[in-house]
Amino acid sequence: MKQGVFMQNDFTTQRIPAKGYAVSSKDDKFQPFTFSRHPVGENDVLVEILYAGICHSDIHSARSEWREGIYPMVPGHEIAGRVVAIGNKVSKFKVGDYAGIGCMVNSCGECEACKKSQEQFCENGKTVFTYDCLDCFHDNEPHYGGYSDNIVVNEKFAIKVPQNAPLEKVAPLLCAGITTYSPLKFSKVKKGSKVGVAGFGGLGSMAVKYAVVMGADVGVFARNDNKKQEAFDMGAKSFYTSTDGVKEKFDLIISTIPTPYDVMAYVKLLGYGGELAIVGLPPAAVSPKINIANLVWSANRRVYGSLIGGIKETQEMLDFSLENKIYPETEIILAKDIDKAYENLTTGKAKFRYVIDMKKSS
Ligand code: NDP
Ligand code: ZN
Repeated sequence: MKQGVFMQNDFTTQRIPAKGYAVSSKDDKFQPFTFSRHPVGENDVLVEILYAGICHSDIHSARSEWREGIYPMVPGHEIAGRVVAIGNKVSKFKVGDYAGIGCMVNSCGECEACKKSQEQFCENGKTVFTYDCLDCFHDNEPHYGGYSDNIVVNEKFAIKVPQNAPLEKVAPLLCAGITTYSPLKFSKVKKGSKVGVAGFGGLGSMAVKYAVVMGADVGVFARNDNKKQEAFDMGAKSFYTSTDGVKEKFDLIISTIPTPYDVMAYVKLLGYGGELAIVGLPPAAVSPKINIANLVWSANRRVYGSLIGGIKETQEMLDFSLENKIYPETEIILAKDIDKAYENLTTGKAKFRYVIDMKKSS
């Protein structure tokens, strides 16, 4: 907090004023929104948000495409910023450190999933997602996301970011990065693996970059040729605009597609024992169905879903990304342009990741 705004230690007892951008209904445009966050608890850090990525999940949520959203809604779960205050039991961060925050801000910490650092699957149902979620650790108040100037989070859920990291590139790693890194690791991709990436946007481009660095031969599936050159520049070996007539067989295909599509068309492109990892989450009303008979006849090919990744793996992903200089393709925008960015992301006009410069936006 800026000096003078708070007396020393006030942040541990007083609510933290915050300014962000919210929609008040599924049809609304973004408006400036003033709110407050809970005081900084003894294990919490207060982070000044510098950059916030725009994930397609923000659009699905803001428009209530999965379920009725919690409004007013401040989306944003690709957050990078600077620690400006810490609770007295915080050991992971000091004031001035950089931190990243992704899709969750708390969980029970006691169940098997949490103990395995799979906090997104907290068995006590206490995963607090960064926005569009009620915070069961703070009187069930709605939690607000990263399109804002600050956030208060339990230190366990903040990822350590080195001081020399390019923060605007770090932000999208907190969701697009981990969501694609996690299934590549789960499916044990290695040198010579054949990996397909369906949907070549924010997530898809990260999947391509990670798979290439892991030594895989990568094929991209998009719905037009617009970003063909970019796919080859990122190291892809093949590029398709349809699944029809494709001869290649893949060990793993990651689907990041956010619209309705034929899931079995991708299963058919798997080699024996191959896996289709689904991370894209089309709107509930048009969610693709799997034809069971076709799946049975594709025996020993597997389809699985994957949800972000745990906190331990998120730190691993961030360290791996920085070490190998794997960064998202970003376009920096101001908060006044969020609606335009949403429109571009849903009309095929966007390239990869929009990132909001929160400091310049205020
Ligand atoms: P983007 O909008 O950045 O990218 C989606 C890409 O998919 C675009 O390039 C789009 O092409 C392409 N696409 C759309 N329809 C098709 C199709 N039928 N066939 C091939 N390509 C298609 O979205 P994100 O990468 O940010 O997110 C993708 C999905 O992943 C979303 O549904 C999101 O909610 C989900 N997600 C899931 C997470 C998880 O933990 N499982 C975490 C984060 C996101 P075009 O440019 O032509 O529109
Ligand atoms: Zn996301």
